[in-house]
Amino acid sequence: MKKAVVIGAGLGGLSAAITLAAEGFQVDVMEKNRHAGGKLMPVSLLDYHFDFGPNTITMPQVFDRVFSKAGMRMSDVLNMKKLDVHTRNVFSDGTVFDFTSDSAAMKEQLKKIDPFAAQHYDEFLKEITRLYKLSETHFFPKMFESFADYLSPSLGTALLKVRPLESMHHFFGRYFKNPELIKAFDRYATYIGSSPYISPATFSMIAYLELVQGVFYAEGGNVKIAEGFKAAAEKLGVRFHFGSKVKRLQVQNKKVSSVLLEDGRSFQADEVIMNADLLQAYPELVDEQHRPGFKVSKRDSYQPSISAFVILAGLKKRHRELLHHNVFFSKDYKEEFIDLFSEHRYSSDPTIYISNSSYTDKSVSPAGDNLFILVNAPALTREGELAVDAEAYKERIYDILEAKGLEIRNALACERVITPLEIADTFGAYRGALYGISANRKMDAFLRPSNFSKDIRNLSFVGGSTHPGGGSPMVTLSGMNVGEAVASRYRN
Ligand SMILES: Cc1cc2nc3c(=O)[nH]c(=O)nc-3n(C[C@H](O)[C@H](O)[C@H](O)COP(=O)(O)OP(=O)(O)OC[C@H]3O[C@@H](n4cnc5c(N)ncnc54)[C@H](O)[C@@H]3O)c2cc1C
Repeated sequence: MKKAVVIGAGLGGLSAAITLAAEGFQVDVMEKNRHAGGKLMPVSLLDYHFDFGPNTITMPQVFDRVFSKAGMRMSDVLNMKKLDVHTRNVFSDGTVFDFTSDSAAMKEQLKKIDPFAAQHYDEFLKEITRLYKLSETHFFPKMFESFADYLSPSLGTALLKVRPLESMHHFFGRYFKNPELIKAFDRYATYIGSSPYISPATFSMIAYLELVQGVFYAEGGNVKIAEGFKAAAEKLGVRFHFGSKVKRLQVQNKKVSSVLLEDGRSFQADEVIMNADLLQAYPELVDEQHRPGFKVSKRDSYQPSISAFVILAGLKKRHRELLHHNVFFSKDYKEEFIDLFSEHRYSSDPTIYISNSSYTDKSVSPAGDNLFILVNAPALTREGELAVDAEAYKERIYDILEAKGLEIRNALACERVITPLEIADTFGAYRGALYGISANRKMDAFLRPSNFSKDIRNLSFVGGSTHPGGGSPMVTLSGMNVGEAVASRYRN
């Protein structure tokens, strides 16, 4: 029986482990933390449950594909609910615009604040559908290794059709004229940790995922997705080693010969799949002499995606004005991206996202709202420093919310602040980035590090820093893509 070791039990690692086990591999998963799911992490404070990480879930069909590899259906394990209104956008002047996949309801709202957009909304949906379908066919299933892949006739043609040279902001401006509304669409760039003023319009297809396919929530908390994956993996015989940090990969003759853990144990495997963020873990775990194709200077050439400043706040009351997902926009959205990517500083007037999953599911916090409050943050400095006073910034965020009429401080039952420092430390995330590499540079958007080591024959990569990219469905796809490709090497 062929053996595989997966380093990291994030969604990408779990999906790779399931795929390989379904193909007959004996799989061992090494995870430094005590939970499955990586950044999708359960946090409990008193009776308040929070999903840290992915709160907005799209493309559930990708998760279903993973379950099917273990002979299960997602519906056997999870109650995946589609949200009617998924995001309540509150503009700086207090105007409310609710995003929904009900296009008639969208047009009704558009008529009031953007008649041009109301007329062109169907055209917009058609164009984002086209962008999505092209990506689904040509980019999601592929593991690009070099520019040569893009020059293949079919891919080259597809690439030219997905508006790689136009920015997302420019693209949205062709269909929407209300500047506040454009901000709400521009925000989709943050789903890949990037700026709408620079990222290619290709990624406007994220709007398709929400506005056509819809936004979903796993009853009991999105962490149930990771728990379901763990159960599927165990059904296939995968062995989990929690609290097991990998310290070193020993390499001989261009192959990983053993995986050494911090506690002194060592494992041999035919294949090693690294789900730990490759920008951090590859240089940390493998001596530079064994990876001439990925020197530290190459790693340093990538721009990390944004990070996040998160407050988990359990309240003694329920705010009726909050839905499941809420965004409170600042006055100057563009300035925020200059702060994040050019100045590497925290915005003094940030846009604030709040997930309140107890709006949909009271069971996760019976006594009041369970607020996951997130503000975009710059990645840590190269020296690993947090460029903000966390306590003061938390108070600043509460001040902004309270000025908008949302009482927090007097309603608090419990709270916890999670900064980019903790994200970097807990998950081994390079400079605390949420989504690996940003898509701000065209090179980085389309040519992330390959899924396969150029120097070590039995080492592959899955997760946010590689193809097809960050976000829960994409990393899950990367796990399946790599698992299938690795297994195919052994079939003949
Ligand atoms: C605050 C926040 C909000 C987000 N919001 C969303 C959202 O709304 N929707 C969405 O789709 N996505 C969201 N994301 C992004 C999403 O969480 C990630 O893209 C995805 O979960 C990353 O999965 P992954 O497989 O790449 O790896 P990770 O989840 O990063 O898992 C990697 C695992 O490797 C382990 N590891 C690292 N080093 C070692 C080592 N040496 N030995 C053993 N184990 C190791 C880590 O502990 C970790 O468990 C968010 C992320 C964050 C942090």
